[in-house]
Amino acid sequence: MKQNESALVCLSGGQDSTTCLYWALKHFTHVEAVCFSYGQKHALEVEVARRIAEKAGVAFSLLDLSLLGQMTHNALTDASVVMDKEKQADALPNTFVPGRNMLFLTLAAVKAYEKGIRNLVTGVSQTDFSGYPDCRDTFIRSLNVSLNLAMESQFVIHTPLMWLDKEQEWELADELGVFDIVRNETLTCYNGVMADGCGECPACKLRRAGLERYLSRRNR
Ligand code: ZN
Repeated sequence: MKQNESALVCLSGGQDSTTCLYWALKHFTHVEAVCFSYGQKHALEVEVARRIAEKAGVAFSLLDLSLLGQMTHNALTDASVVMDKEKQADALPNTFVPGRNMLFLTLAAVKAYEKGIRNLVTGVSQTDFSGYPDCRDTFIRSLNVSLNLAMESQFVIHTPLMWLDKEQEWELADELGVFDIVRNETLTCYNGVMADGCGECPACKLRRAGLERYLSRRNR
């Protein structure tokens, strides 16, 4: 059942947020997308997100958060930082951008407030959360409360992927009828390679392992 309400989706052009965009289109009568430019090495992300929004027929806006890239030193925003091939025990991966999801959702909420939109959608997942603390359910719930207090609002942050692993996420894309779009037209790879990606970086490994598990189950 579609709710007669509006939703704003945080869209980065990757598998997760693209699946969330189509999830939102199924559940809400009006959907818009917001994308952030934060000094990420692969500016292509923004173009990919724009194309995905256009194809889905939703309004797209880009917010400039280059300050975040200037302030942080990690493998996604700083060309001199070499990405960890494997996650180090007891340490955040060096692809972690501190404050990123908090800032994205906070700015998305400001935009939503101005547009009279109550629902926010983000593709974070605790199941395959790569060690990012700001992808956890407790953080999202906490921020939801804070945003409501800060703006005296009744925002609802939706996290359709929170308890799905990557295999289940491919299944969701398939159920939504967008398996091919998600597989071929998104950019998840940390090295900026479209679709199935470079195959080497942690994001590609996670995405591919889930895809292979899902395809072998589907084709049985
Ligand atoms: Zn890759």
